[in-house]
Amino acid sequence: MFAELDLRVRFGEKNYGGLYSSESLVAVLQEVEDAFVKAQADPVFMGRFEEVLKTFAGRATPLMFAERLSEKYGRRIYLKREDLLHGGAHKTNSTIGQLLLAQYMGKTRIIAETGAGQHGVATAMTGAKLGLPVEVYMGAVDVRRQQTNVKRMELFGATVHPVSSGGATLKDAINDAMRDWITNVGSTYHCFGTAAGPYPYPSMVKYFQSVIGTEAKAQLREQAGVLPDAVFACIGGGSNAIGMFAPFTEDPDVRLYGAEPAGLDDGSDRHAATLTRGTPGVFHGMHSLFLQNSEGQITNTHSIAAGLDYPGVGPELVAMQDSGRATFEAVSDAETVDAFAELSLLEGIIPAFESAHALALALRTAPRLDPDAVLLVCVSGRGDKDLDEYWNYRGV
Ligand SMILES: *Cc1c(COP(=O)(O)O)cnc(C)c1O
Repeated sequence: MFAELDLRVRFGEKNYGGLYSSESLVAVLQEVEDAFVKAQADPVFMGRFEEVLKTFAGRATPLMFAERLSEKYGRRIYLKREDLLHGGAHKTNSTIGQLLLAQYMGKTRIIAETGAGQHGVATAMTGAKLGLPVEVYMGAVDVRRQQTNVKRMELFGATVHPVSSGGATLKDAINDAMRDWITNVGSTYHCFGTAAGPYPYPSMVKYFQSVIGTEAKAQLREQAGVLPDAVFACIGGGSNAIGMFAPFTEDPDVRLYGAEPAGLDDGSDRHAATLTRGTPGVFHGMHSLFLQNSEGQITNTHSIAAGLDYPGVGPELVAMQDSGRATFEAVSDAETVDAFAELSLLEGIIPAFESAHALALALRTAPRLDPDAVLLVCVSGRGDKDLDEYWNYRGV
């Protein structure tokens, strides 16, 4: 169900990744690594993980041939339907893996940070299923903007801590969650929202999310008898992308494409295109690319897709960009909204704005590929949450 385990502290020639945490966290990160390596080789743990993925989250998700879209764009396009996963997005794969691991470690309390609330909701939902208390740090500004997600988290029994320091958004919530963890390392597991952060999180979250690519690869072989020519995923921190790419990295003929948010694309800093426009730095426990000012202060990002609004990116993707193994392009809000409408109209699927970035890049790239090329697109989540924003954008 998963790609081969590939635990790496550092990525690429520029040594992205690492473990930039205060000394008090290093011991618990070591504990997480040890437990993960043990759990991953333990049939009892893996059996339970696979059972929860199946009966609670609804795996396997389908691979769907997009007939009308393929006809219009003249290339065969297949969609991996993570939008059908319980919770409405791929995040559930990782929260189940991490919270089961926390139980395996004997931890009794889960903390997480969240921006727009999607990771907070996924963590709270999984905490309710597994009987683990969850506390979520969320910027006070985000708490006000995302009341529906706060209500969801509270319904799942989670405690939401509004964070008023700094700009009262995600980066401030990250700082407070880190402080909580340092204070409570004995009892507490920190559930990361993406394949980023200090070692071992980038490799561990990749492993949990590799179920997406592993399933898709087998499904495509069964349905079409081929490998894809090109694989597309959107990039926030990079977890659905690295999970989708994982089983294809050793297939040299499979091209890998990541779509990141160009936002308004008007020359301003209202974007979140970390890979193509970020600069190297250290934040959130890792050496990676970030959107930051000349003094190294993390800047506020913007995307029409709230889930892509992360000022950093997972270190493995940065190394894949440097080596040329994967190609990353920025997609604007305007192109995203068009792809969102296109998939709804032609296939009866409302994709998340996040996922619509991946689709937009696939549609942009299709004409550059061979006429018989097979494109595989990760539809990371469903877009019901984005309906109001869509019609606002259209000026209705
Ligand atoms: C959170 C989210 C993302 C971005 O997260 P990654 O870690 O980059 O995958 C993408 N799509 C959806 C639907 C999301 O909810």
